Amino acid sequence: MKKNQYLILAISMLLLMSCSDNETATTTTNEQGTVDITTVVQSSFSNDYTDGVTVEVSGDNITIRSTGLPDHKTPYWGVGHEMYEDFLGTNHANANTSMIAHNYAMTIPTNPIESSFKEETELGAVGMALNGAPIYNDYEGMGVLTEIAWSTFDATGAHPGPGEDYHYHCEGTYLTVDDNNLIGFLRDGFPVYGRKDEDESYPSDLDVNGGHVGTTADFSEEIYHYHVSSEEYSTSGLFVIKSGAYHGTKGTFTQ
Ligand SMILES: [Zn+2]
Ligand SMILES: [Zn+2]
Repeated sequence: MKKNQYLILAISMLLLMSCSDNETATTTTNEQGTVDITTVVQSSFSNDYTDGVTVEVSGDNITIRSTGLPDHKTPYWGVGHEMYEDFLGTNHANANTSMIAHNYAMTIPTNPIESSFKEETELGAVGMALNGAPIYNDYEGMGVLTEIAWSTFDATGAHPGPGEDYHYHCEGTYLTVDDNNLIGFLRDGFPVYGRKDEDESYPSDLDVNGGHVGTTADFSEEIYHYHVSSEEYSTSGLFVIKSGAYHGTKGTFTQ
């Protein structure tokens, strides 16, 4: 019995050691990407309506703070608000949530770099649109987006969740509609564009995470960037902004 316990102890120590060895090998160093995104971030983020976006550079990091409230019309402002508009089109019986201001802070590297480990995106904010509202992936609650979720989207492909946190899942009238707009940055610091590239063509070489390397209207040096999916999501008639994993290492997004 005692012998067995020693054996188990020895094996677990070995396992622990090999795990930490592994970790050292895959942990990203302080390597920097070749393209500095600072000036584009500083000039692109704004929210004239709620006056709620600030960009602060500190060392190798940029922190963007926002209330997360949109600067455009949506039913979620509530009837009577000057920015209220009714739902357009289809049945929105489930849309009974409201939205409130948050204290978001997303920290991204000034020089985003590819990570050897591609971490899957998760529930919650995976990035921030240029007006400070969070970008979510193709998941909601316990699973992928369903008709129940997308029936609550406004014309911009957004809705508030249970936390009254307004956020975008899909292409829509504010961010991008079948164009090459810069719409925001993901938590790894890489920019997200609409379905098209700068030359108005649809990219044909996107990787499994929806991105590729190339120049854009904002970056004359080649940089990895994501694109909104060009494939309709299920039967929604919508195009999801982000699915899959991050290309780089995820920074923090707090509220
Ligand atoms: Zn959602
Ligand atoms: Zn592209």
